[in-house]
Amino acid sequence: MCVLRTDKLLQKIKMDKRKININGKDIEYVFKRTKGSKSVKLAVYADGRFVVSAPKWYPMYVVKKFIEEKSQWIFERVKDVDFDLIDQKQKAESVDYKKSVKHARAIIHERLEFFNCHYNFQYNRVAIKNQKTCWGSCSQKANLNFNYKIIKLSEEMRDYVIVHELCHLQELNHSKRFWNLVSQTVPNYRTLRRKLTEIK
Ligand SMILES: [Zn+2]
Repeated sequence: MCVLRTDKLLQKIKMDKRKININGKDIEYVFKRTKGSKSVKLAVYADGRFVVSAPKWYPMYVVKKFIEEKSQWIFERVKDVDFDLIDQKQKAESVDYKKSVKHARAIIHERLEFFNCHYNFQYNRVAIKNQKTCWGSCSQKANLNFNYKIIKLSEEMRDYVIVHELCHLQELNHSKRFWNLVSQTVPNYRTLRRKLTEIK
């Protein structure tokens, strides 16, 4: 569950996928240019994703030199990662998304309308996305985003995600006022909230 406070955050980060060969193994990484940062950074995630970010003005040869210097450190962390398997999983997920999105959109709209009979909030665009880290979000411009996978949750958990984002239209925060709104239609939100964090 995440709240996006500005539409800037909604802009897709350009995924620039690159490869390097360390000790004979092709290692994939995502390259990002970041505003505001002053140095090259690298992060290795538990699933083997490896992200290099550099300031906008940094020349590429400096970035490459940095990666080379850290290559053994990187190798140690991703040597056992099966990148082909990760690719396969991603492909399978995007096939599943294409297959399920229409159904997901219908359910989500139906549940939004159902709960909004109670709240009567105004919202604009509703987007159904294939996201990794977020069940749903609400922007300052009153646009709602939902992860299509919420239709795979139990009905009460799916409804909780929908009500949670719906209530952000009124309260774009997690204040007491926000939770009071949620509890009007989902009184057991505490339990559901905890269950949802256990899934991720
Ligand atoms: Zn929230």
